[in-house]
Amino acid sequence: MSWPPCCGGRDHESGGAKVADTEEKRPAESAAESRNFIEQEIDRDLREGRYHEVKTRFPPEPNGYLHIGHAKSILLNYGIAEKYGGSFNLRFDDTNPTKEKTEFVDSIRRDVEWLGADFGDRLFFASDYFDIMYEKALLLIRKGKAFVDELSAEEIREYRGDLHHPGRESPFRDRPAEESLRLFEAMRDGSFRDGERTLRAKIDMASSNINMRDPVLYRVAHKSHHNTGDKWCIYPMYDFAHPIEDAVEGITHSLCTLEFEDHRPLYDWVVRECEFAEPPRQIEFAKLYLTNVVTGKRYIKKLVEDGVVDGWDDPRLVTIAALRRRGYTPESLKRFIELSGISKANSSCDFSLLEYCIREDLKEKRPRLMAVLDPVKLVIDNYPKGQSELLTIPNNLENEALGSRELSFSGELWIEREDFMIEPPKKYKRLYPGNEVRLMGAYFVRCTGYETDASGKVTLIHASYDPKTKSGSGFEGRKVKGTIHWLDAKSAERAEVRLYEQLIDEEKGKLNEDGSLNFNRNSLTVLKDSYVEPALKRAKPSESFQFVRNGYFCVDCRDSSEGNPVFNRIVSLKSSFRLPKGEER
Ligand code: ATP
Ligand code: MG
Repeated sequence: MSWPPCCGGRDHESGGAKVADTEEKRPAESAAESRNFIEQEIDRDLREGRYHEVKTRFPPEPNGYLHIGHAKSILLNYGIAEKYGGSFNLRFDDTNPTKEKTEFVDSIRRDVEWLGADFGDRLFFASDYFDIMYEKALLLIRKGKAFVDELSAEEIREYRGDLHHPGRESPFRDRPAEESLRLFEAMRDGSFRDGERTLRAKIDMASSNINMRDPVLYRVAHKSHHNTGDKWCIYPMYDFAHPIEDAVEGITHSLCTLEFEDHRPLYDWVVRECEFAEPPRQIEFAKLYLTNVVTGKRYIKKLVEDGVVDGWDDPRLVTIAALRRRGYTPESLKRFIELSGISKANSSCDFSLLEYCIREDLKEKRPRLMAVLDPVKLVIDNYPKGQSELLTIPNNLENEALGSRELSFSGELWIEREDFMIEPPKKYKRLYPGNEVRLMGAYFVRCTGYETDASGKVTLIHASYDPKTKSGSGFEGRKVKGTIHWLDAKSAERAEVRLYEQLIDEEKGKLNEDGSLNFNRNSLTVLKDSYVEPALKRAKPSESFQFVRNGYFCVDCRDSSEGNPVFNRIVSLKSSFRLPKGEER
């Protein structure tokens, strides 16, 4: 499968966005590649002639930002449409007038496009189908399959029964269709207050599946809708609206998450009783969960509203907007979704798998530059005073095509504070009094002394360098065990760097004893005095780099300004998943 899909194979002539229409339509069963259980079902449907094409959709409710779980659903639906030469719709499930916001519509659209799931002009709003839904409700009433009820919400709940007891029929269940038709119209015309009447399906109050016990199809709600304004004061319930939306759009396979499994009989009932010619079919798959990570929309919303994070795109969140801001790429998310697999059983995926995917994606693509996050000065006392030189340093040893750059070197450098110790432990290979290390791409230096302030904090390190040991000079003499990075103090640019850890304290688990979330106090570290190579001062928002030994970083797209980039650490180089070769400290 190509990725990202180059302009998604938009079908200009018909005006639709058929996915991969450049390829011949192929019933995929001949392909040797492995099939997940959904694809196996689709193969069978095509083979048996139940459907002749594949049409999928992603149906978000615009009541929050999308998160990584939604990315799974998007890429699954889009990927299947692409694989079978079918089509993919983005449909806003905006039937609930209370919660939806245009801000969310815009953000969702942006996220789906960014992921590369091209919906072309197949962008739909469920609220555009309110008229059709209303017509279908009338049809059900006429057929004796729905009735207007006068029980209150509480009574309906009471009458519904539970898993061990059958429900009781509403006393209004058998009122004549004519009466229900009149009342339903009166509901639409605003004759009732919220909650005074409902339209209910007439199915089976004794069903073992509670969803089938005369579910509510329509309710009265005197609320404005972001799309239809005040046209309606009755709104359809999800279980009635969703199958109709799918059917109207000609969706063949309505892929949804496992919590809807028990709703499937109702889904089938709605499309059947509403007499759709080629009814869609619902197939459920397991949600994506990440261990110790807040993924639910509702929970993320609370973190935003409580000010625990700085907006929906705070880089510590796993909304798609946050992952993008942090520096994750669509390719890395796609790889992650592929590796996490499609299954019928709920399970939780480790965040380190996601980190592995972004490391793998950026490893060869992006230049490896030097940044000193927590600087301390190193003075080379035998380097010619006031002089400097330009050293040529390759941009990525694993990808020669990225070329090289010239970097200034002098007798005054910044190095990482943690690369020097006065009294090192046994295995410490970096700088300490008397020890020699390589300055990456430059010379060997030996520590000759250090200075501290009154508190004992190291303020300056003294060293001498050996001019013979210039990198690339063919020097074959002494070996050193450690290599550290550095920046010329005169030319380095100061920059803000932000380091992130998980929002939830991983050690202690997701929840405190009282059920509240167990936050990690160190989830954000802001370093205001870091130094970066001079060229990085001109880095553009969302550009990413490897900072050697420190990880992958991305220019924050919100808080950076021209000439003042702020760098977000996407991920460190160390991995509990698999240590990329040649990148160990
Ligand atoms: P949340 O569970 O986070 O509140 P939601 O299911 O309410 O999300 P919707 O906008 O209704 O969000 O979802 C749009 C689609 O995304 C649905 O088909 C839903 O099944 C799917 N989806 C939601 N969460 C996940 C997840 N964690 N993994 C895979 N698919 C998901
Ligand atoms: Mg929902």
